[in-house]
Amino acid sequence: MKKLIVAIDGPSGAGKSTVGKLLAKELGYLYIDTGAMYRAIGLKAVREGIELKENDSLRGLCARTDVRLVQGEGSLRVYLDDEDVSDSIRTPEMGMVASAVSAQPCVRERLLELQRRLGEGGGVVLEGRDIGTVVFPEAKVKFYLDAKVEERARRRWKEFMEKGIETDLQKTIEDVAKRDYDDSHRDIAPLKRASDAVVVDSSGLSINEVVALMKEKVLKVAGN
Ligand code: C5P
Repeated sequence: MKKLIVAIDGPSGAGKSTVGKLLAKELGYLYIDTGAMYRAIGLKAVREGIELKENDSLRGLCARTDVRLVQGEGSLRVYLDDEDVSDSIRTPEMGMVASAVSAQPCVRERLLELQRRLGEGGGVVLEGRDIGTVVFPEAKVKFYLDAKVEERARRRWKEFMEKGIETDLQKTIEDVAKRDYDDSHRDIAPLKRASDAVVVDSSGLSINEVVALMKEKVLKVAGN
């Protein structure tokens, strides 16, 4: 059976990480969370007090920054240089920061190269905003996962609360809507559905249902 590149794109809170991880596990594929890479760069920029919307200031940072994804015991760990930042990047603030730095060309160039290197051999599930359109436009299986903005924000809010991060639901809805807007209106690699992506609206579906229908599609393509 062929080892494919599976691209999952969509707005924040659509369930890409949850289903991406499960799908990768079921297929025996590697799971690559590209948003985590943008978050890691964003975290370093904040720590160094670098202007998030200035390409020139971020260029130097990108050149001397190493971002790595390491498969840990049951979870994917994110390393910024030699530090495990998996937890510190999962805050509401870091989502907004990642969105800001991700609009800058030098950041995208740097991470694009890394993502292509990780995925080129196949047997990977990559999730993000531009996987099917820019990173691997030739991928044989592409999904565009979506859900209503209120539902996506509610899921994010629930995740934050479960982790003990106090946030307001209304503020989370506003943040998610702003990120949707910014991510889909930027000049480079905006969030958009690839013309050959299968659209999955996860609003009324359980996680298992979404994973099952994705797996069926991957196996069908891999078998041909
Ligand atoms: O998916 P996640 O919420 O972790 O992504 C954080 C931010 O990183 C997104 O809002 C988006 O701006 C950016 N991103 C991107 N391209 C990707 C993945 C994430 O621009 N492939």
